[in-house]
Amino acid sequence: MVGPPKTLHDLYRVEAQVRVTCRSCKATELWELDALIAEVRNNGGNTDWKAAHWSVKCPHRCASPRVTLLALPFGKQRTRREAHRRTLINLALQILRAAAQRSSYEPIGTLEVRLALHVLRPFVGDQSLLVEFWKAATIEPRHPWTSCHRPYRLIAQRLIEEGASVDDANKP
Ligand SMILES: [Zn+2]
Repeated sequence: MVGPPKTLHDLYRVEAQVRVTCRSCKATELWELDALIAEVRNNGGNTDWKAAHWSVKCPHRCASPRVTLLALPFGKQRTRREAHRRTLINLALQILRAAAQRSSYEPIGTLEVRLALHVLRPFVGDQSLLVEFWKAATIEPRHPWTSCHRPYRLIAQRLIEEGASVDDANKP
């Protein structure tokens, strides 16, 4: 979209949501476009972009609202969500990789390893890979063949197959 929208309806073209912020009390709220247009109309307002904010209530209903609207195209949110996912996955892999390196000598069934495995759950199609890692992480006594290297490789490989962005350092 070039320049600001003329009316709320223009936002349908970019599938936007709208962030409503009150500059007096700092309250903020995310609105679906349909609901916001209905709200503006219910309040007897005008859906012109420059006027609509007058007809949107402060999310906290404070005494002296100064409401501003910010259009959030889905594209931007999606990019942000993907970056967040990539960070999560690679932080978790980094923890598992470091733990796997110690795993020939000592059990690595720590809280951080458990957390990392939980973080990866939604992204690894096959839960048994995570279970295998945990088993190898906790089995005693330790031997070179009880290490977590192989389970790590299988998890990283599966994430790549599932389309995750795995950093070079974390590649199997
Ligand atoms: Zn307010």
